Amino acid sequence: MMYDYLIVGSGLFGAVFAQEAKKAGKSVLVLEKRDHIGGNIYTEDVDGISVHKYGAHIFHTNDKRVWDYVNRFVTFNRYTNSPVANYHGELYSLPFNMYTFNKMWGVVTPQQAADKIEEQRKAAGITEPKNLEEQAISLVGTDIYEKLIKGYTKKQWGRECTELPAFIIKRLPVRLTFDNNYFNALYQGIPTEGYTKLIERLLEGIEVKCNTDFLDPLVRKEYEAKTDRILFTGCIDAYFGQKLGPLAYRSVRFETEKLATDNFQGNAVVNYTDGETPYTRIIEHKWFTFGKDEYGNDLKGTVISREYSAEWKNGDEPYYPVNDEKNNSLYAAYEELARQEEKVIFGGRLGRYRYYDMDVIIGEALDLAQKELG
Ligand code: FAD
Ligand code: UDP
Repeated sequence: MMYDYLIVGSGLFGAVFAQEAKKAGKSVLVLEKRDHIGGNIYTEDVDGISVHKYGAHIFHTNDKRVWDYVNRFVTFNRYTNSPVANYHGELYSLPFNMYTFNKMWGVVTPQQAADKIEEQRKAAGITEPKNLEEQAISLVGTDIYEKLIKGYTKKQWGRECTELPAFIIKRLPVRLTFDNNYFNALYQGIPTEGYTKLIERLLEGIEVKCNTDFLDPLVRKEYEAKTDRILFTGCIDAYFGQKLGPLAYRSVRFETEKLATDNFQGNAVVNYTDGETPYTRIIEHKWFTFGKDEYGNDLKGTVISREYSAEWKNGDEPYYPVNDEKNNSLYAAYEELARQEEKVIFGGRLGRYRYYDMDVIIGEALDLAQKELG
């Protein structure tokens, strides 16, 4: 055998595992179907601005082991995510906090905000939330649901809030304090040199072949013969030729442009929460690094990306697994098939069909490394 491990996918999961395997003295080959490494956290430099090509990524975690781990490879700035919601020109603070409640209802104290939410929850008659709509109303009331959640969620998932699992909205904090920090995390930031640098350092000294799709029958035949152990981080249903039927994913189309203005929207992230604007949000990339270059000079011009969410079809990039009941049970059937593939480990967001953030991905890759490599 030529390689102890064949790793399919050079995203964060594959790269962390590759790093650990190499460190343990194993021989490793990484195959990547795109023409670059990094998976969805890939960033590219456009005239000094680090552009998040596959969607905005903000690193946040409460896991000190993971934070210490990534800081061994790159340094992080102190970016704090504070998106703004734009509902037909009305601007609201996110996540839902006292600034949001004050703007929505004119309430001033935490008690007044809590009373308002409770009044709206009661009026809607919700006791045990069964879906995203009921969960949202019970957390923040009907007004916020109608203006800041309903339209955005329908655009993002292409499904009514009544058809979506409650857990999706529980990702967002609800606070009775004046705090626009989007995440409840002890550690947060963006790598000062971009995420691609993190992946480059993780894969330093490791053989990587880009433009190589493992599922191409010829490639698969060639490389399966060279190893006894494969880590597959692509779509689990694609690995099995979708033989039980395709899993559903959401895809995203990014319309990115460079503008001559130095400040387009004054914030890295602005969500368009109405149902009519066709995109979900606009990212202005320079604000992830404070719009300055390494010498503190203001960066000229700006790069923005409009995000359009779409149902995934074969050939598109899969971004989000659709974890509704139907797809979760189809995934469980694929997982059963996966258990019979003794040579193969399935990992990562696509391999496990889960809505994982970066820190969870790193934690899982480290756990896997410990299990596999001792
Ligand atoms: P991926 O990054 O998808 O990597 C998989 C790799 O495998 C890809 O490079 C792919 O090309 C390759 N591959 C697939 N199939 C094959 C094949 N057959 N042959 C060869 N190569 C193959 N997380 C956060 O913590 N904070 C955020 O702010 C955040 N924002 C996000 C925004 C968006 C729009 C999205 C979609 C995700 C976001 N995430 C965020 C989650 C984050 O992107 C993931 O946790 C992380 O990228 C998952 O890494 P991965 O290696 O599992 O998957
Ligand atoms: N959400 C919303 N309005 C917003 C932002 C988020 O309704 O302005 C909902 C939406 O359903 C989304 C979920 O909250 O899918 C989780 O948001 P998050 O920002 O965590 O999504 P991400 O883009 O990180 O996957």
